[in-house]
Amino acid sequence: MTATATPSTSPESSGPDALRSDVRQFLTESIEAGAFTPETDSWMTGFDAAFSARLGKRGWLGMTVPTEYGGRSRTPLERFVVTEELLAHGAPVAAHWIADRQMAPSILANGTEEQKRRYLPGIASGTTFFAIGMSEPDAGSDLASVRARAVHDSDGWTITGTKVWTTGAHVAHAIVVLARTDGEHGDRQKGLSQFVVDLPHPDIEVRPLRSIDGQAHFNEVVFHDARVPSSALLGARGNGWSQVMGELAYERSGPERYLSTMPLLRAWAARLAEAGATPDQRRTLGTLTARAWALRRMSLRVASELNAGRKPDFLAAMVKDLGSTFEADLVEAVRSAGALVARRDGGDPLDRMIAQSILHTPVFTLRGGTNEILRGIVARGLGVR
Ligand SMILES: Cc1cc2nc3c(=O)[nH]c(=O)nc-3n(C[C@H](O)[C@H](O)[C@H](O)COP(=O)(O)OP(=O)(O)OC[C@H]3O[C@@H](n4cnc5c(N)ncnc54)[C@H](O)[C@@H]3O)c2cc1C
Repeated sequence: MTATATPSTSPESSGPDALRSDVRQFLTESIEAGAFTPETDSWMTGFDAAFSARLGKRGWLGMTVPTEYGGRSRTPLERFVVTEELLAHGAPVAAHWIADRQMAPSILANGTEEQKRRYLPGIASGTTFFAIGMSEPDAGSDLASVRARAVHDSDGWTITGTKVWTTGAHVAHAIVVLARTDGEHGDRQKGLSQFVVDLPHPDIEVRPLRSIDGQAHFNEVVFHDARVPSSALLGARGNGWSQVMGELAYERSGPERYLSTMPLLRAWAARLAEAGATPDQRRTLGTLTARAWALRRMSLRVASELNAGRKPDFLAAMVKDLGSTFEADLVEAVRSAGALVARRDGGDPLDRMIAQSILHTPVFTLRGGTNEILRGIVARGLGVR
């Protein structure tokens, strides 16, 4: 995607259009064959390594990674199309999500040749999974106050500290860690660096944390003076803050920030088409669809900014703030307009889906940066703070 990321139905767009129908057909057939059941928030909790590998074989992962590193050298718009379809169908994509979304672009931008050759082919084949080691018990919103420390000697680095809420660390093949390498705690953004650390590791303890729905998809990760080679440093020493900000733009602006609950809307729309809809239900459906469409345009805009090499931090923050608010509003709107009964053990798949969505709702506006923090970034971007 060079000039514009806006989707079009003109003949030139036959690439993405043909791709979209291929992905749709694959997903419809997979659902019919019982390969997966559509779920809300599947990018966070739908872990299925075999499904990720199937996507990799079809060329739908690592799409924007150059072919020399095992990728497909496709455009960000083509990647966007695939991502959108996977999310809207509630496909189990959690295994590869973090790796494909932000680690591939980060390693491409900051990694050494050795790191690119080591990690990118596995990301593109859907067989190498990553975790993000940014947040700590006392450094969530205030990420610049991380206390994890990495000390260099002639044999490599020793990393000490604790990370928390680390999604997928128990199944990841590697974790990217933000740690202080220089200066003091009070230096904040200065003196931070990133490392790619292979997992499992004898000096790294991964302790599961259980969320409200009983699942343990994130963890506390303790680095007990973990030894890693000098080659684990990602990017330039001391440049960690800037690299993390670049990664967060990818993390915050993608379609998962407004499509986590789209499978619920689709299932409800299908039910209304079958059983008939009241005027109020039609209005609700129309309003939600219009909001999703506007968010899609915003997300595409951020994708094109990233592609042009710019850092659209405040636009990405805006997409996440509005998108995650929409995801939660959608659950409440469908619950009340649909007169659904939330039951995790219910016989009706829609009742089960609404129950699952309600349990996931609290995290939408937390993960990837809380909405209060995002609004601060937007205010700064607008020059009013
Ligand atoms: C499901 C889930 C998955 C996650 N996965 C990962 C992961 O894989 N890797 C990772 O590194 N992290 C992950 N996180 C962590 C996430 O990024 C943090 O939870 C988030 O940044 C908030 O930090 P905190 O939890 O420490 O809350 P705090 O920073 O303690 O915030 C508590 C409350 O205070 C508010 N607040 C704080 N500071 C301000 C301020 N200056 N102005 C106004 N309000 C403020 C916040 O908005 C929030 O409501 C995940 C979180 C969740 C919920």
